[in-house]
Formats: sequence, structure tokens, C-alpha cells
Amino acid sequence: MGSLLAAVASYLDARAHHGRWLVRMEDLDPPREIPGAQDEILKALEAHGLNWDDEVVCQSTRAELYETALAKLADMGCVYRCRCTRRQLQGGIYRGTCRNRNVPREEAHSIRIKVPTGQIAFTDLNFGRVSQDLAAQLGDFIVRRRDGLHAYQLAVVVDDDEQKITHVVRGADLLDNTPRQIYLQQVLGCDTPAYLHVPVITNANGVKLSKQSGAVALHDSQSGGNLENVMRKLGHPPPSTLKGAEVSELLHWGAMQWRRKRLPTHLDPEG
Ligand SMILES: [Zn+2]
Repeated sequence: MGSLLAAVASYLDARAHHGRWLVRMEDLDPPREIPGAQDEILKALEAHGLNWDDEVVCQSTRAELYETALAKLADMGCVYRCRCTRRQLQGGIYRGTCRNRNVPREEAHSIRIKVPTGQIAFTDLNFGRVSQDLAAQLGDFIVRRRDGLHAYQLAVVVDDDEQKITHVVRGADLLDNTPRQIYLQQVLGCDTPAYLHVPVITNANGVKLSKQSGAVALHDSQSGGNLENVMRKLGHPPPSTLKGAEVSELLHWGAMQWRRKRLPTHLDPEG
């Protein structure tokens, strides 16, 4: 239900603005991928009438694009090799330990980008002004992991640019990722899309509902009821005349009625 909420929000926002709605598989971490999960996601989208435009893009097949962006960052002197292990760092802010170490290429390393001091700010279409001081709150962040996998932040920025994304509509759990992405866009010379974050559904402990947190799977056979449910949460409750309507009708109504200012920034926990 949590994933459906973000999917429906982005779908309706795209349709309401006569845009195209694109699906991207953010499957950068092959070991964590569950076989068949992608087919299941696409099947669920179809069952809920969420028809996408263009071909589905899979990040797992785009390493070359991400490497090209990394090379560009390296040419500009914006990135460096870091030999620190997660255990050495114990979370928290990265203090730039390896900035001037010149860690040899042969040594196991991640790649970090130098961040500037000062606020990176943007105006979210739902949450308003959001800003973050990357240096003070995060430190130089990883763009390629020690195991060679590209970081989500880098991949997303490269893909958004390559796919000419104008509007990103997604869950608010990614709100605090956005300043990092905007910084990467600035360094790489990419346009910054408009951002619209929608609240995430959480359980009583404030944990985002997902398969990992034990949420029940969606039943495609209840697609109409599922849509009604998330549209209500998004501040767009379908009228009683649409009770039992086809998913296409519900979505059509939703796109016609869509007003960003009706979106909530918070949802009461489930259960
Ligand atoms: Zn380091």
C-alpha cells in the first residue's frame, strides 16, 4: 500500500498535467534483489490501471552511464578515494579523513564527493522550502561504494537527466536525499527537476510500511478498493458514485480532480 501510494500520486500528477509517466527499476543492488520482484511490481501496476509510457528503465543495466558521470567528477577533481570501512566510521558525519590521503587505486576503496559548506535549498511542491547543509549534516558522501556498486544518489541524478525528467513525485522518506541530488546536478551541470514528496504510510512505530517491515502484500483482485484507499489518503477521496468503479474510471476522476494543495504532509500511522 505504501508503494502504491507514491505510484498513484506520481501517476495522477503526471496525467493531470498531460505529462508522461515513466517507470524505472532502481535495482542497483543485485544481491538484495528478490527474483521475480520486478515482474510482480509491473503486474501490480497494470492491475491497478497504472499504465506507463516508454520502456521500463533498469538501473542494473546502466553502469556505463554512471561510470561516465564518475569520470567527469574525477576530471573536475570533485571526488576522491576513501579507504575507511563502515565499522571505522560508525555512521555519523564523514569528516573528510581521506580527502588528502591519495588512497592508492589498488586498495579497496569507496569514492566520495567533496561537499561545500552552506545550505542547499529547494522548494518542494508539497513540503515547501527544504534545506540542508551537506558539510555540517552529512559530510562528503559516497558516489561509488566499496563493492563497486554505484550509489543511489549518483544513479538517480544521471537517470533523471538522461530521461529528461521534469517532475519527481515520490515518498517523503527521500526528502532528505534531495539536497544531495541537487548538489550532484549542480556539479554535473544537469537541470534540477521539480520535486513533489508525498507522505509515507508508517506503522505504529513510525516505520515505513514495506515488505521489509512486514506489510501485507497488495491483492491485485482488490485493485479498486486499494486505489480508493490511497486516493483518500492523498486528499482525493473518490465520491460514492464511483463505488465499485473500474480502476481506469477512478484514475480518470483522480487526474481530473488532482490538486497538489490538497496533499497532506503527514499520515496517521496504520494499525
Ligand atoms: Zn575515508
